[in-house]
Amino acid sequence: MEAFLEVSVSRCPSCGNYYAEAAWYALVLESDLECGKCGEVFSATEHFTDRALLRFKLDKKGGIEEVDFVKDVS
Ligand SMILES: [Zn+2]
Repeated sequence: MEAFLEVSVSRCPSCGNYYAEAAWYALVLESDLECGKCGEVFSATEHFTDRALLRFKLDKKGGIEEVDFVKDVS
């Protein structure tokens, strides 16, 4: 059994800290993120750096056994 989560990475334009968020939240909703380090509020879409698809390998009850990722998301 498998489950997937697409994530995107964005970088704070003020201090350079990186953040990973669910892609539907950061890119589809074009949400603003608040940097936990310097307090800057910035657009996840404008400061997007990369994305990947996380793959969760599950046991029969849906428990997570292993996580890896697929790089090319289209
Ligand atoms: Zn920052």
